[in-house]
Amino acid sequence: MAVPKKKVSPSRRGMRRSHEALSTQAHNECPNCGELKRPHHVCGQCGHYDGREVIAAEAVKGVVRT
Ligand SMILES: [Zn+2]
Repeated sequence: MAVPKKKVSPSRRGMRRSHEALSTQAHNECPNCGELKRPHHVCGQCGHYDGREVIAAEAVKGVVRT
């Protein structure tokens, strides 16, 4: 097994981790209900997409997940 030759210093470890920060997830406001939703996805609250109801709001909220 490959073994590291030297202990990685806190500075070097920090430099490596400088690229690991999490970015916030993209989100839009639903034009129909105002709830935050993912872009290019059906609204999880009201089931609308592109100005029309694609999935019945009941199906989105509750038991039926299709
Ligand atoms: Zn909505």
